[in-house]
Amino acid sequence: MSDERQRSLHQVAVDQFQKAADLIELNDAYREILAQPKNEIIVNFPVHLDDGTAKVFTGYRIQHNNILGPYKGGLRFHPDVDLDEVKALAAWMTFKTALVGIPFGGAKGGVTMAPSAYNECELQRVVRRFTHALGSNIGPDHDIPAPDLGTTSQTMDWVMDTYANISPPGDRQSVKGVVTGKSITCGGSLGRAEATGRGVLYSLRHWCGEVGERLDALKVSIQGFGNVGGHFAELASEAGCEVMAVADHTGTIRADGGLDVVKLRAWVDDTGGVFGFPAADPIDTEELFSEAVDVFVPAALENQLTAQRAGALKCRLVVEAANGPTTATAEKVLAERGIDVVPDILANAGGVIVSYFEWLQNKSGRAWPFADVDDRFRALVWSAHDDVVAARDSLDCSRRDAAYVVALSRLAEAYERRGIFP
Ligand code: NAD
Repeated sequence: MSDERQRSLHQVAVDQFQKAADLIELNDAYREILAQPKNEIIVNFPVHLDDGTAKVFTGYRIQHNNILGPYKGGLRFHPDVDLDEVKALAAWMTFKTALVGIPFGGAKGGVTMAPSAYNECELQRVVRRFTHALGSNIGPDHDIPAPDLGTTSQTMDWVMDTYANISPPGDRQSVKGVVTGKSITCGGSLGRAEATGRGVLYSLRHWCGEVGERLDALKVSIQGFGNVGGHFAELASEAGCEVMAVADHTGTIRADGGLDVVKLRAWVDDTGGVFGFPAADPIDTEELFSEAVDVFVPAALENQLTAQRAGALKCRLVVEAANGPTTATAEKVLAERGIDVVPDILANAGGVIVSYFEWLQNKSGRAWPFADVDDRFRALVWSAHDDVVAARDSLDCSRRDAAYVVALSRLAEAYERRGIFP
């Protein structure tokens, strides 16, 4: 298991696209371009803590590709953030935006820190100083961050406010689109907070239509109960699915007949985690992976689904809500066992799709009603799924390879049309 975890995550991302590139005999120049980010920005910046000391933090912004539009991707605050991880996450953003057909490129950023170790004032100073250090490396028509693991709409509001304050006075109202995932008060979009979880549910709904299953008859288990896993659990439960087991960083729980997700949400809001939820049984971490369900949804960190855990799964489908949750060896085990996988760049694209809508609303100064957001959102998710199913059937490959084929074909076409400067 440790060997799988030690592998470079960026190399995993490169291997994934190269496999699909072989299927369409992609030109070597495009492969070389896409195998590295265009820009790697690393900043070390000091922040005053409340105990009177100052601490130097390391932050990253990796701009992978912008052939289809401005760089786009989240900011992650987590102790494991490093250059290799952010490079992988940035590359996946390029393929995700290309796959769902929105005019953005791919980027990712983060700060190596545990947000829970700092109070709100300290956290705000970290966010503002990091934004200041990034300076003109981000911008509403250049590179647009969003929330990811360990960051929230509050983080985005602070980034936007800091960026506006370091912009010329005449630009301060027009730069709101420098980040997406903001609160509604600060220019966010209706539907953005739960968009990634909702996109996971729409992915599941599409799969049901494809294979002839009923959504409301499905049992699911979920790793992660944060922005993505928590919203997915609530929406899946509303849609009639039984949420049998849930894990987060505090523990793993299950309940015969399914968890009461509304009560679990209230418990997690009060206590900070699923541990100790009274209406459930605590189980060992590894038991999550052998819970008998129809669908397993990893919605926490990368490399969680190892070969050993893939061998233990008792499900028919894995929907990758997290980025990079499945190791390469686990992927082979899943294929051998006939367990279908909806890949991350397709399953979790809901967040960036509604981020695109937020950016359009900021540009036009007009807020869209939720129904408009949702109709356009569902249409984009389903058309991406249709494209992937068509590519999979015509090339007789996995859903993941097909998703990369669709994305790579769009990127290659843009390079063909634009050429390589000079
Ligand atoms: P989050 O910080 O809101 O939640 C993360 C969840 O994972 C928490 O419940 C945490 O307790 C849990 N967790 C952490 N370590 C764990 C462990 N070792 N075992 C079990 N659970 C653990 O983060 P998020 O925004 O929900 O992101 C989750 C995943 O989804 C990440 O891979 C992220 O890149 C991806 N993603 C997020 C978005 C978004 O819009 N937020 C969009 C696309 C993809």
